[in-house]
Amino acid sequence: MHQTLKLRDDWHPEMYTLITADQIAARVAELGVQISTVYQNRPLTVLGVLNGSVIFVADLMRSISVPHRVGFVQASSYRGATTEGGEIRIGTSLMPDLTGRDVLLVDDIFDTGRTIVRLQQELARAGPASIQTAVLLWKDGRSQVEITPDYHGFRIPNEFVIGYGLDYNDDYRHLPMIGVLEEEER
Ligand code: 5GP
Ligand code: MG
Repeated sequence: MHQTLKLRDDWHPEMYTLITADQIAARVAELGVQISTVYQNRPLTVLGVLNGSVIFVADLMRSISVPHRVGFVQASSYRGATTEGGEIRIGTSLMPDLTGRDVLLVDDIFDTGRTIVRLQQELARAGPASIQTAVLLWKDGRSQVEITPDYHGFRIPNEFVIGYGLDYNDDYRHLPMIGVLEEEER
């Protein structure tokens, strides 16, 4: 751990590992057990937020032992790469019918919480039976909203993280661990 990796030769950003692939796998398995207990005999739809949640969703759904459907919704905030953003845009063109479904909204990270809140408002209009939220990561000291995620993998310090679906300018989503991008590299 805390081994510094050089990520790309033409740009030389560096990162260190915050959460290893093994730690993620163990925690996702625990979340799957917890979620499977809650959603027994309920019409569950796991709804991932594109693009950041794809790897988390793919792993989480395989650790959920009760029958369920999977779908996706798009959300993007017009922040520059890492700066504070204003408007959040929701794209529902890929979203399945959620009428009467118990929806588990899955995102990569709860930072200010504004994305999750906007998505909850949007989903409520689709007539679901219920909405709960799951995030892999929950940043300390950043929330600007009243709600908290129903399930979370890890609390993390206020650092910019990449890997396991999370990007920096659309790169690094493929990394199997969660890493912190060194400040001076951004
Ligand atoms: P929120 O609306 O909670 O402030 O932000 C949620 C979204 O911001 C996430 O879905 C993610 O796209 C982006 N985000 C927030 N913090 C980070 C971070 O540390 N790293 C990356 N890659 N994205 C982040
Ligand atoms: Mg995102």
